[in-house]
Amino acid sequence: GSRKLKQWLHQPLANRRGIEERQRLVEELITQYFTRVELQGLLKEVYDLERLSGRIAFGSASGRDLAQLRSSLEKVPAIISELADSGSGELVKFSAKLDRCGEVCDLLEAISENPPLSAKEGGVIREGFNDKLDQYRYASRNGKDWIAELEQRERQLTGIKSLKIGYNRIFGYYIEVSKANMHLADLARYERKQTLANAERYITPELKEKEALILTAEEESLSLEYELFVQIRDKVKQYIPRIQKLASTLSELDVFVSFSNVAEKYRFVKPEFNDAREISIIEGRHPVVEKMLNKQHYVPNDCVLTEQQNMMLITGPNMSGKSTYMRQVALTIVLAQIGSYVPAESANLPIVDQIFTRIGAADDLVSGQSTFMVEMLESQYAITHATERSLLLFDEIGRGTSTYDGMALAQSMIEYIHDHIGANTLFSTHYHELTALDQSLDKLNNVHVAAMEQSGKVVFLHKVKSGPADKSYGIHVAELANLPQAILGRARDLLKSFEEGKKQKVSHVEQLSFFDERDTDSEEVLQTIADVNIAAMTPLQSLQLLNDLQAKLSKKG
Ligand code: ADP
Repeated sequence: GSRKLKQWLHQPLANRRGIEERQRLVEELITQYFTRVELQGLLKEVYDLERLSGRIAFGSASGRDLAQLRSSLEKVPAIISELADSGSGELVKFSAKLDRCGEVCDLLEAISENPPLSAKEGGVIREGFNDKLDQYRYASRNGKDWIAELEQRERQLTGIKSLKIGYNRIFGYYIEVSKANMHLADLARYERKQTLANAERYITPELKEKEALILTAEEESLSLEYELFVQIRDKVKQYIPRIQKLASTLSELDVFVSFSNVAEKYRFVKPEFNDAREISIIEGRHPVVEKMLNKQHYVPNDCVLTEQQNMMLITGPNMSGKSTYMRQVALTIVLAQIGSYVPAESANLPIVDQIFTRIGAADDLVSGQSTFMVEMLESQYAITHATERSLLLFDEIGRGTSTYDGMALAQSMIEYIHDHIGANTLFSTHYHELTALDQSLDKLNNVHVAAMEQSGKVVFLHKVKSGPADKSYGIHVAELANLPQAILGRARDLLKSFEEGKKQKVSHVEQLSFFDERDTDSEEVLQTIADVNIAAMTPLQSLQLLNDLQAKLSKKG
């Protein structure tokens, strides 16, 4: 089911009926504990049917693959009866979707219990399936017994205890006698075949005759066996669509069993849906962060967006949990729309058409795009594709550029989404200035992730509360990261002077405007020079003009 789950996560449902149908199955599996445990055990015994049918289609399936297919299909009747006997409406209905593939099972009866990996080595087809094959096998096995007897007999006749009968592919069967015992060999019957450094190999007419029989039987047996195997594989091939359908249905069942296990183990609830686009998650949790925290306590948070206030501006220090909060809302919605229960005390959700996220700084260095460019491209995509039924998550927009730039972009995006898209939106920012937007945008609501200062140190509470954050605690976080005291002290001083530095800012503005003016004056001077008709001027007039122009420039300079 893991592949199916991944597929569902990539393509959640957008229709309520489909979602609720899945929910009902999960719900029944939660209440039917024993059925669920039985199903889980049976499903564990089913091999990856999708992969197996792929190999059969491709003609690369081994005897072992067919045996795995058979043992998987053998579990299907038990799975069907578990579901059918459960007495739960949805589970009974689901059982009817499972195909036993009886014809395939019949075909696979020919395959032996534990076939080897290679289909050409023999041992793939079971005894008693084909008379001719059985005869060949008998002949070859018999022949081998005969060889063992012959070895005993020759040892007695010659008195050579170390005499043995061997086989290799070039010389076939031979009697081997060591150099030391060569004088004992019965050369009347023995015909020399091969000389080794410390042994001599012989053959007898009797051995030669038997060898031919054994080898033919073995060869015939292997080729007949392979032929039969390929026939079966080709016949099974015709049933691939049915096997694939079965694979898909079984993997769905596996996902449903898993959903109900998770719901039970991690206290998930069944989400409800509304058509009003309202989000109401009470005591929601991030399923992954919660699990990673281990013994520490995860702080659950509500998320409520209404038709009247469907945009949330989230402020709070770095590390307080803004991203986690936004992701937990998105994950809750994705889980709900694949039919799973969700990590919360209760959840009433809209069915969203798309979720757009602008989260994290994933640099695309390979294609030469800066972090900021990626951020802008993703924002562009979200803003041009979102509808009022979408969910938008914007985490720290405008972080990758200068403060005023970033803030200006963030604000204009918020305004645009508010006025033109109307999608449910969570927007986190470290620009406190933006929190004033709730005055002009009536659908925007300020929340913050709480932190508090305790003897000069920041303590994260991870609790989302209404209203904007009071300060940003950046230096506190830097301190937590153990930056040198010299840097922290200097940063504190600078922060203080920035906060008091209104005057400085004004003079900075004056400087800017001065540059602006000088620019227009220089342009004027240039324009005058360009326009003047030198031919119509006296030398004195031109000197006068030069004097005026210089004065104009030096007045500003
Ligand atoms: P931010 O986006 O505000 O910088 P994150 O969302 O990255 O902060 O959260 C920082 C860390 O705080 C997380 O990795 C997690 O360990 C912890 N955290 C966040 N939210 C919670 C919560 N609700 N309960 C407990 N710990 C949390």
